[in-house]
Amino acid sequence: MRLRFDNAFLRELPGDPATGPGLRQVHGAAWSRVEPTPVAAPRLVAHAAEVAGMLGLAAGDVESPDFAAVFGGNALLPGMDPWAANYGGHQFGHWAGQLGDGRAISLGEALAADGARHELQLKGAGPTPYSRSADGRAVMRSSIREFICSEAMHHLGVPTTRALSLVATGEAVVRDMFYDGHPRPEPGAVVCRVAPSFIRFGTFELPASRGDVALLRALAEFCVWRDFPWLLGEHAGRPLGHLRLEQLFDETLLAAWFREVCERTARLVGHWMRVGFVHGVLNTDNMSILGLTIDYGPYGWIDDYDPDWTPNTTDVQHRRYRFGWQPRVAHWNLGRLAQALSPLFADAAPLQAGLDAYAATWAECERDNACARLGLQAGDDDGLALMRELQALMHRAGADMTNLFRALSDVDVEADAPSLEPLRAAFYAPERLAAEAAALEAWLARYAARCRADGLPREARVARMHAASPRYVPRNYLAQQAIDRAAAGDEGGIHELLDVLRDPYGEQPGREAFAALRPDWALDRAGCSMLSCSS
Ligand code: AMP
Ligand code: MG
Repeated sequence: MRLRFDNAFLRELPGDPATGPGLRQVHGAAWSRVEPTPVAAPRLVAHAAEVAGMLGLAAGDVESPDFAAVFGGNALLPGMDPWAANYGGHQFGHWAGQLGDGRAISLGEALAADGARHELQLKGAGPTPYSRSADGRAVMRSSIREFICSEAMHHLGVPTTRALSLVATGEAVVRDMFYDGHPRPEPGAVVCRVAPSFIRFGTFELPASRGDVALLRALAEFCVWRDFPWLLGEHAGRPLGHLRLEQLFDETLLAAWFREVCERTARLVGHWMRVGFVHGVLNTDNMSILGLTIDYGPYGWIDDYDPDWTPNTTDVQHRRYRFGWQPRVAHWNLGRLAQALSPLFADAAPLQAGLDAYAATWAECERDNACARLGLQAGDDDGLALMRELQALMHRAGADMTNLFRALSDVDVEADAPSLEPLRAAFYAPERLAAEAAALEAWLARYAARCRADGLPREARVARMHAASPRYVPRNYLAQQAIDRAAAGDEGGIHELLDVLRDPYGEQPGREAFAALRPDWALDRAGCSMLSCSS
């Protein structure tokens, strides 16, 4: 097994002179060298063949015992040089100081044959200088959730970190799942995540909070150079040191960078709101500078449509990270990033322009998503208004978000008064549907008239709708079923679910069970409707 590494983060940014996992505050440095702590018996549970292929790994590489050893944290390939990154963050609205990779250890930046850069990062690989009071490990249940959801998001077309592998460690990890004083041992696991960059908003906030403008500037220039090379035009690919000497990183360039971060974040949130994903912990340390979904913890998927729902039990009081608030939370987080970057700008105007671009891009995404999901070709505000009315009805009547939008393409829009029948199976409670049936029928009549005026032929309309509204998403209860089966010794559920989620927009006859409404047993079952950060 061979990979080519170019560890630019280590080479180009200042590092911590101390090594090893001892807890410490790390000043003036972007990273600390630390090796994964070996585990008792690494065993490959699952891998994503697409990610292995992207890295240039062959099937034989994945099957060899070396693979589980490397991606379980017991061995290094030539060129790997492990580190933990230093960053801070705002957690639940409050500045939390230094956080850093407490249980993530990057192995290296692999360069694929096509030149693409893929940082390989183990999650759950043992303590680092940033582990604070925790153990640096991860449990199997949350590792299965991260593995499945990262890949599902990719196939849904949502920007995300990827998952190469899921390795069982053969060791127990003790967790108090409900924070109720009942810790118990659970099987441990390590996921290898893959992304072009794991830089977070909090990466910039930490040096800014310490008044370390030199490190802040170094990080910003590095990030533009490595992660946004297209902003450098003809200078892309030239050594970073040369570009610094030529003073290429002026305010105009940094402003363009911030603006792009804002626009990418808006598009990311647009996707989340389209597919019904609730991140659950949108702290600024969990916001990727590249606009990727990162850090899958107590995330959830909307079953019955409820903009106020959060899967995170830690957040149940204020529901800061509820589904419907994600657009405004992302904006708030960008505000924290803008504040952190402000020492690099003479005045606030370019940063404000970026934040305005966020609002404009999000508004555009929301409107385009609405029209695509309704099957309207004209992307106008009428479509958005219709969508808002439908969402209010879905909330009141208890409609399953995924299934309702999918079923909407079966409505006969040639009829003046279309029947509700095609939608009926997407509702959770007949009496709640009955209470709203007249309002829904009135909405359907207006919707049908709008479709006829829009003029898209039936097939094109349905294709547009199916491309925007998935049939299959990794519903919380589906992930939990795979977890329960794995705990009972049958890991087949992980592979089955991953395979269904490879084609989320396809009909996949025979696999309808994976699109079933959330069963009642899942309503108050841990892992299905409520999750804690204990992972
Ligand atoms: P999260 O809420 O998962 O984004 O984590 C917030 C911070 O806590 C990050 O710095 C994590 O690296 C750290 N952290 C979370 N879980 C653990 C753990 N089991 N061991 C060490 N650090 C952790
Ligand atoms: Mg995190």
